[in-house]
Amino acid sequence: MIQPPNPIPFVDLSAPHQALKSDILAVVESLLDQGDFVLGAAVGEFEAEFAAACGACLAVGVGCGTDAIALGLTAAGIGIGDEVILPANTFVATLIGVLRSGATPVLVDCQPDTALIDLEAATAAITPRTRAILPVHLYGQMVSPLALKHLARVHNLLIFEDAAQAHLAKREGYRAGAVGIGAAFSFYPSKNLGAIGDGGMVTAANEPMAQALRALRNYGASQKYYHTHFQGTNSRLDTLQAAVLRLKLPLLQAWNQRRNLIAQYYDQRLAALASYGLRPMHNQSGAGHTYHLYVIQLTADCPCDRDQLQQGLAQAGIQTGIHYPLPCHLQPAFQSLGYRAGQFPVAERLSQNILSLPMYPNLETAQVDRVVEELKRLLVAAASSAQFAL
Ligand SMILES: *Cc1c(COP(=O)(O)O)cnc(C)c1O
Repeated sequence: MIQPPNPIPFVDLSAPHQALKSDILAVVESLLDQGDFVLGAAVGEFEAEFAAACGACLAVGVGCGTDAIALGLTAAGIGIGDEVILPANTFVATLIGVLRSGATPVLVDCQPDTALIDLEAATAAITPRTRAILPVHLYGQMVSPLALKHLARVHNLLIFEDAAQAHLAKREGYRAGAVGIGAAFSFYPSKNLGAIGDGGMVTAANEPMAQALRALRNYGASQKYYHTHFQGTNSRLDTLQAAVLRLKLPLLQAWNQRRNLIAQYYDQRLAALASYGLRPMHNQSGAGHTYHLYVIQLTADCPCDRDQLQQGLAQAGIQTGIHYPLPCHLQPAFQSLGYRAGQFPVAERLSQNILSLPMYPNLETAQVDRVVEELKRLLVAAASSAQFAL
């Protein structure tokens, strides 16, 4: 295939690290000198800084976001016999985390305009065994904290957030990570705040929960060789990753602002393509949306299908993503949970009709222009060939 000029990648992990390279190398060098590799000083420092940035009481660094969900639920006292409500349209790690805590996951559908959990469906799924609701702040937009708190109060539920895509997101005066009993964050490299490897964090609303997490991530030991927590494992945030994340945390707000501006520019430019059936996901939280992903939907008016559009963009050198192509309840791995096709129609429809466009802080508006022009070219061509077919 002929390589198109100036390809636009879906994410760019290289540019931000070029800018930080000498600082990162200095951190590696001092770590080598100190030999402080596991649960070193930078971990505690970063935990305190991250908790403060989220407005959370405490934070405990763990090995990845999946572990942050599993261990966070365990530390909150949730486990076997408890039901936890979560959306069907999330990255499978949310479901895996719930299953690993021993709790029973209860999947529900999402809202068509935001792809966030449908809280009416969540309310309908509550049983006497429901202990917690696990909202996923999908694409970087928080699920309404006021609505969550109301639901939790009325039904006596805990709120545990999956904030893996929503570092520093805000809504209704609340910040992600500080809405309920705790929250899980991921520092997978492509997240808004990414490590140079895997990493995760749990925020906790109280000291007993943070203490439990410090034991759970360290073989269940509250003191060295004194094991108090049955579900203990080895899942610590590396000192090296914490040290690198400390360098990036002060830059995060500006990066998020830049993502938000790029999203506004996409929204503006894409408004001209509304008649072709392209619709951006709704932003209900203004500048509080951190746009981990910029997602559009193809409605019934669209003259081509999602996969054709994605292929056309790829041929023009524009890389896109789908988040996610198969909802959790239809994944082969989880058939034993007993869900079936048709049960969550909104999530199922979205999985066929959504497309994530390139989004990262150093994306240029000229590149956004090119993405939109290419979309327009493909849609106009599809519309005219559809007309021929009539
Ligand atoms: C990335 C992600 C996770 C998992 O985080 P890892 O660090 O990859 O384990 C969980 N939930 C959501 C919504 C995510 O996007």
